[in-house]
Amino acid sequence: MRKLLSLLLISAILYACRQSPAYFSRIAKNDIPLQAPQRGEWLYKHKENGQSLKEYKAAHPIKASSERSVIYLLPVGTFTPLQKEIIAATRSYNETFFQLKTVVLPAISDTMPPIAQRLYGEDNHPQLLASYILDSVIKTKKPKDAIVLLAISAKDLYPQSSWNYVFGLASYSEQVGISSIYRLQNQQLDSSNYTVCLRRLLIISTHEIGHMFSMHHCIHAKCTMNGTNGLEETDRTPARLCAVCQQKLAMAVVYSNEQRLQQLITFFRRHQLTSDEALLKADAMLQ
Ligand SMILES: [Zn+2]
Ligand SMILES: [Zn+2]
Repeated sequence: MRKLLSLLLISAILYACRQSPAYFSRIAKNDIPLQAPQRGEWLYKHKENGQSLKEYKAAHPIKASSERSVIYLLPVGTFTPLQKEIIAATRSYNETFFQLKTVVLPAISDTMPPIAQRLYGEDNHPQLLASYILDSVIKTKKPKDAIVLLAISAKDLYPQSSWNYVFGLASYSEQVGISSIYRLQNQQLDSSNYTVCLRRLLIISTHEIGHMFSMHHCIHAKCTMNGTNGLEETDRTPARLCAVCQQKLAMAVVYSNEQRLQQLITFFRRHQLTSDEALLKADAMLQ
């Protein structure tokens, strides 16, 4: 009886081992090839080498462990109720996308010393120095069980005085970063641009956290890890990792591909992200 049980266990393990590669080769059929880059697009100006699975493994990517497995989002500044809703949905999405517990920390003040802020543009809107916040504020806020921490600023960011603005900044070696919601909402967030703003934050947060998991820009197919050169390109980026990048995720986190797929479909349906839902449903159809 014991022999039979161990045989059953071994065959169950072998079956589980065979399952995952089959899943990835199946969904690879739905990967959309990249077209020749057009003027203004990221790959038109930036020569990217991509990152094979072998190269990813060689980079010794971080892995979720019992000590460090929580993704933290840290709001910086004061947010409207609608913006808070977007951050809450972004938490839920990251939890599903990475299959790791994701927590929104209590918001911290964005009152910075004079060297770390300025008024900018014709409208004199306040901007915060992203590099200062990253080095002097965020790194000290990372809880012990954090695998990564992404701060989200209500105000606009700039990386250094000669720059107009920056969407975000990260230290991938320390797994911390900061993004801003300011430019994702076309000045003012309301019900008319809620879904556009939400989708942008979903793409940007998972892309940045993907980098923190040692994923480089993807050139295998259309993918959340593609480099983008502005919001127009971000809007064309799929909320889906290609088969190669999903295999990288599976090296960092232990999870069920099928469960992740179903949870993502449910999330997209709940938030009326119909084209994203359709893309993932096509993957589910292949199962
Ligand atoms: Zn990137
Ligand atoms: Zn990819």
